[in-house]
Amino acid sequence: MKTQGQFTLFETLDEFAQFIQKPVQRQIKLIQNHHTAEPSYNDFNGQNHFQQLKGMKSFHVNERKFSDIAQNLTTFPDGTIAICRPMDQNPAGIKGANTGAICIEHVGNFDNGKDKMTAAQRECIIRMNALLARRFKLKLDTNAFVYHHWYDLDSGTRKNGAGNTKTCPGTNFFGGNTVAACQASFLPLIQAAVAALDGTAPAPAPVAVPTPGTVSIPIAVVATQGAALSIRRGPDANADKLGELADGSVVHIHEANGIWRRIDPVAQKWVSSKYLAPAPQAVSIPIAVVSTQGGALSIRRGPDANADKLGELADGSIVHIHEANGIWRRIDPVEQKWVSGKFLAPR
Ligand SMILES: [Zn+2]
Repeated sequence: MKTQGQFTLFETLDEFAQFIQKPVQRQIKLIQNHHTAEPSYNDFNGQNHFQQLKGMKSFHVNERKFSDIAQNLTTFPDGTIAICRPMDQNPAGIKGANTGAICIEHVGNFDNGKDKMTAAQRECIIRMNALLARRFKLKLDTNAFVYHHWYDLDSGTRKNGAGNTKTCPGTNFFGGNTVAACQASFLPLIQAAVAALDGTAPAPAPVAVPTPGTVSIPIAVVATQGAALSIRRGPDANADKLGELADGSVVHIHEANGIWRRIDPVAQKWVSSKYLAPAPQAVSIPIAVVSTQGGALSIRRGPDANADKLGELADGSIVHIHEANGIWRRIDPVEQKWVSGKFLAPR
C-alpha cells in the first residue's frame, strides 16, 4: 500500500478487501464502471499511478469545476486499485445516478480497436466488483451495476443507450457497453467471483489432461558476463526493482517497449534488452486456456495441491506452460507458479 496526499494505492486485492470493511457514512445502492479513455494504456508506464491520479484530479477540478476528482476508485492496467474521492462522498460519475453510487474509473480505452485489457486488470475489475457487491449487499443486476452509456448526458435520464451518450465503459468492455452485454458477459463473472468468495463455487469438473496447441514466444538468454540483471516494474531504468535474473537465465519475451522487454505474460516485469542475447534457437511454448466452468484455478508455489497458494486465475485465462511435472504445469518462465493441468484445455 502506498499513499500520496488523498490517494492510496492498493497493490493487492486483499488490501482493498480490508479497506472496504470500514464504515461508510451513506447508503451504497449502485456501482458505476467507467473507462477513462484518456489516460489510456499508452500513458501508463507501470509506475506513474500517482501522476495519472493527480492529472485526472486537476482536470476534474480546474476544467470540469468539480469539487474533487470525480471517481471514488481507479484501477490500472497492472491490476492495482487507488482510493480517490472519499468513499463517504457521492461521486461525479454519471449525471442522474450519483446518489448512493460508487464510481470506478478503469484506466484504459476499451472501445473496439483500442486498448486490449490486460489479464491483471480484468481479474482486478471482476474481483473488486464482487467484493463491493458483497460488502454492500447489492443485487447482481443492471439496476445496481450500471454503465455511463445507459444515461442520457443532457437530461441524466436512463435511456439504456438512446439519446446523447458516451460509449463509456467502452464498446469492447467485457463484451460491450449495452445492458444485454452487461447481463450476458459481465455480471456472470462477478457472480462467479462472489461465489468463490463465499466458498460456494461449484467444484470444477475435471477435464482431460490437455494436449495444448503451441504458439511461438520469442526467447532470449540473459548475457551479463556474470552480473545480475534487474527486473523492473516498468520499461524504465528508474522503475521499482522487483528482483534479479542470473547471467544465463532464459526468458520469454511477451512485449517490447523501446529497449525494454516484458518477460511475464501478465505482470509488469521488464528487463533491458541490452543484456539479452538471442537464444540458440526459437522454441515453442505450449499455450492453454483455464477451463473451470466459472470457478477459480489456484496458483501454487510448487507442483503439489498442498503447496502455498499464491493467487488465482479466472476461468478463460490464457497461460503459457514452461514446465511439466506429473499433472502440474508451471505457468511462469522464472518463478515457481504451478497450476493443475486437470483444469487446462487446449486453446
Ligand atoms: Zn464514464
